[in-house]
Amino acid sequence: MTGIKVVKFGGSSLADANQFKKVAAIIKSDEQRKFVVASAPGKRFDSDIKITDMLYACYDKAAKGENFSENFAAIEERYNSIINELVINISLEEDYKTIKDAFAHRAGRDYAASRGEYLNSKVLAAYLGYNFVDPAGYIYFGEDGTFDLEHTLSVLSPKLAGLENAVIPGFYGSMPNDTIKTFSRGGSDVTGSIVARTVNADIYENWTDVSGFLICDPRIVENPKPITTITYKELRELAYMGAGVLHEDAIFPVRAAGIPINIRNTNHPEDKGTMIVSDSADVSKYVITGIAGKKGFSVINIEKDMMNSELGFGRNVLRALEKNGISFEHMPSGIDTMSVLVSTDSLIGKEKAVLDEINYRVHPDHMEIENNISLIAVVGRGMRKARGTAGRIFSALAHAKINVRMIDQGSSELNIIIGVNDEDFKAAVQAIYDIFVLTQE
Ligand code: ADP
Ligand code: ASP
Ligand code: MG
Repeated sequence: MTGIKVVKFGGSSLADANQFKKVAAIIKSDEQRKFVVASAPGKRFDSDIKITDMLYACYDKAAKGENFSENFAAIEERYNSIINELVINISLEEDYKTIKDAFAHRAGRDYAASRGEYLNSKVLAAYLGYNFVDPAGYIYFGEDGTFDLEHTLSVLSPKLAGLENAVIPGFYGSMPNDTIKTFSRGGSDVTGSIVARTVNADIYENWTDVSGFLICDPRIVENPKPITTITYKELRELAYMGAGVLHEDAIFPVRAAGIPINIRNTNHPEDKGTMIVSDSADVSKYVITGIAGKKGFSVINIEKDMMNSELGFGRNVLRALEKNGISFEHMPSGIDTMSVLVSTDSLIGKEKAVLDEINYRVHPDHMEIENNISLIAVVGRGMRKARGTAGRIFSALAHAKINVRMIDQGSSELNIIIGVNDEDFKAAVQAIYDIFVLTQE
């Protein structure tokens, strides 16, 4: 038997009838593409609204007891136009009724959001002539809300083994009490990975609207170069720091089974895209693999003479954060100084409590909080072997007149994290990209 490919198509790949046609052509061009995971329809143009966001808005109205029929009609219209344009013999009228009824009975925000992928997958299954498998009852979360791989494998594996093909909605599964729960936003990527693991696929193809993972966010740097090969570890670093192309948790199910992920472009299927693998002998000619970053961090700067010889100083500072339910991102330190980086969202409203607690525990000489910090991760398995990487980053930033607020190098030497002011974020990413990539061409 030939191997199986699991293919996941994101929202923009399934945004309208024309995109459905491209998707069907891709699937039908390779008989190994038997299992398909689908997202809800995404944006058709920049100012458009994703079905998932329309569903959230609609449900919020329903939950407040407001009339949501107009909002829901707009959602129906999106699906109906796809069905009509593709001339598919399917009607979703019964489903619409069920969903509206469930909304009126407050079925929950997760249930509401999940209907985007549910309806879209029904349409795609009908269009392809594939089976439809509802992940409710096959993909499971545990009591604590984390994904339960064992339970899922035990029910999904026999189900899919008995099928020649299937379309499976992404983004959701069931709680032990059979209510619907979704992954976090972008979670259809995780479903694709789970299905690939379940059928022990040769490859997990993740089809989106870019020709693979790019060295940096195309919304920050114009036309960045694609990454040919990236390791799971590098990808996780970049995804965590905001490279949104693949959900950061999507690597776990496939990684354990050594199944590679291939990011591909639905609009340019001829492009090879990016391969995500466990290990790769070839290193990027640019030394770095990728750059990603996020705004919205705060830094707590703490100074105290002889801090370094005070036993348990760092632990006590972190305890003060822990007591306030705040986790830290990075903690670079000097001899008499320590900086703790946290997300600004997690600190809002707790500033005074945190400073008081630190004061009480370690009696610093000076302390302050600075907001509007961006973190940029420069990631690459090649950095360990190349000398002077950090030096190149700093001279590029100095050249661009950007003030570096913080630096932290991971002990694995897989990444260097740099903190800059929010207003310098874009220019900093551009400067780093230019020094490693543009000047190497
Ligand atoms: P999908 O709807 O297919 O799941 P997403 O919108 O979740 O697609 O992810 C693809 C988008 O991720 C791209 O259109 C791009 O704007 C954004 N993106 C951010 N960082 C990167 C990066 N480093 N490489 C490629 N795309 C990126
Ligand atoms: N439709 C969901 C979202 O917009 C899940 C996904 O697209 O992966 O987040
Ligand atoms: Mg996505």
